[in-house]
Amino acid sequence: MDPSFSAESAWKIFEELTVNARQTQQQVLQEILTQNLHTEYLSQFLRSDSDREDFKTKVPVVEYEDIKPYIQRIANGEPSDILLAETVTALTRSSGTSAGQPKLIPFTDRELDRRAFGGCLCSTVVNKPEITTPSGFRTRSILTSIFMSKYFETQESSLYTSPIATILCLDSKQSMYCQWLCGLVHRNEVVSVGSIFGSILIRCIKFLEDYWKELCSNIRTGQLSDWISDTGCRNALSMVLGKPNPELADTIEDICNVKSWEGIIKKLWPGTKYIDATVTGSMVQYVPMLEFYCGDLPLVSKCYASSECDLGINIKPLSSPCDTSYTFIPNMAYFEFLPIHEDSEEVRNNKEESELVDLVNVKPGRFYEPVVTTFTGLYRYKMGDILKATGYHNNAPQFQFVRRKGVFLSVDMEKTTEDELGEAVKQANQFIGQFKLHVVDYTGAVDISSIPGHYVLFWELKMEGSSHVPELSPGTIEQCCGIVEESLSFVYRISRKGNGIGPLEIRVVKKGTFDELMDLFVSKGASVSQYKTPRCIRHEEALKTLNSGVVGRYFSQQFHVSTALKW
Ligand code: AMP
Repeated sequence: MDPSFSAESAWKIFEELTVNARQTQQQVLQEILTQNLHTEYLSQFLRSDSDREDFKTKVPVVEYEDIKPYIQRIANGEPSDILLAETVTALTRSSGTSAGQPKLIPFTDRELDRRAFGGCLCSTVVNKPEITTPSGFRTRSILTSIFMSKYFETQESSLYTSPIATILCLDSKQSMYCQWLCGLVHRNEVVSVGSIFGSILIRCIKFLEDYWKELCSNIRTGQLSDWISDTGCRNALSMVLGKPNPELADTIEDICNVKSWEGIIKKLWPGTKYIDATVTGSMVQYVPMLEFYCGDLPLVSKCYASSECDLGINIKPLSSPCDTSYTFIPNMAYFEFLPIHEDSEEVRNNKEESELVDLVNVKPGRFYEPVVTTFTGLYRYKMGDILKATGYHNNAPQFQFVRRKGVFLSVDMEKTTEDELGEAVKQANQFIGQFKLHVVDYTGAVDISSIPGHYVLFWELKMEGSSHVPELSPGTIEQCCGIVEESLSFVYRISRKGNGIGPLEIRVVKKGTFDELMDLFVSKGASVSQYKTPRCIRHEEALKTLNSGVVGRYFSQQFHVSTALKW
């Protein structure tokens, strides 16, 4: 695919692709199979060209664990043609985890072109006529592959106020400082403020709250702070800062030097038309906080994308986060859909329901898990996301993102499953066993009332051989917080180290609190005989019940702030 298309031609291509969704999908499958039929992986299932017709009956539907051995072999230096014909140029780290480590997904140069097309489509959709000045600010350092590409350099970089050197700077604090500085200097040209996910944008704004005085001082004097040591950043900023600009510094100081930062974005960047940050799925929890900072600016979730492939774009960017649907792009991969039973997340146990459905045959109103066959070596791979079909654009289906399968706690990029939390609590429970203490019942919640957000575990404890409330040494429960954190995934720990997630908290509740919780759910219609303590609480009344039983709050002392980045 030619990466040098214009926005208009990208939209025209998209329209053609969605009209011809069925044929496009057949071509995509044909191309993937022709290219990869002789790989070690596919040749186990498809022996000859004629077997291609039997793709759906012979190639199994898989999860990451099934293909992990192949990816591991590639990571260890074997030629990548064991899995795919295109040369693997990178293994991208997904935020999903496998045995606590990030999943590695093969990436190729040709995939970069496909991603460029997806990215261009997203820009096309939001750059509707009222948004004419192509400029903006955002940090997406995790998209390094794309930022380092020729496509980004030639076609996209001029759309950002951040010079490429500040985006690619490996020191995230220096990178963020410099990007804010550029955004402030160019404040009158900015039409969109954003970041890849809502949670990250909030962290960026918090950073600005801490650094606006210093940023203003740099603008006033035209001198960059000495602690910015990255040469790329210093060179880039020397072009941006130019002469001392006391008027601009005064204006920004007046705006920032107020008690409440409500609506600050529109005040600092008066030309902003929209906020560019994904706020669907687990990010929905950040909407109220973003609305506080951003006032009535529309929050635009542009695309549904992953390390595996780009999947869909939001063609109605001004829709509210809860009404946002993504239209699948038929040439990005071969898409199939596993029907999901709405209540149980399980596929119903009959043939009709467990059979995968083609892209053009999904039924609006139904829930599905996407299964992708990509150009980069994933064949009938379950994505682990749950989507709800909402309609069609031409012949391409549209979906709302419902949630990640099995994930129930998430603050930043990390995703913790019920099993992972259960295992972590088990480890801590073993530790307090030596003090004759046991966790009788537990549940988890996310607290984003302060930034960064953090996990809260509610624990009801019992002392062996005693019906009294156990005497607790704060140090012991703090150690438990640390043990839980150590047992959580690599991505959690990375997030925690980078201060994307705050210290885990254990709130010890008094005896009987979990009975009260059960009473509450039963009063709401849960069956007593089938009741299971939910391991994640979002329900406000349930949180109130738990909080009213709290007798002690303890925080993890792991990953001391001094060793973490301060934003
Ligand atoms: P990663 O594995 O790090 O590439 O992240 C991809 C995952 O992020 C997807 O499988 C989804 O679970 C989530 N995701 C991506 N785009 C969206 C979106 N627009 N709304 C909600 N979740 C999303």
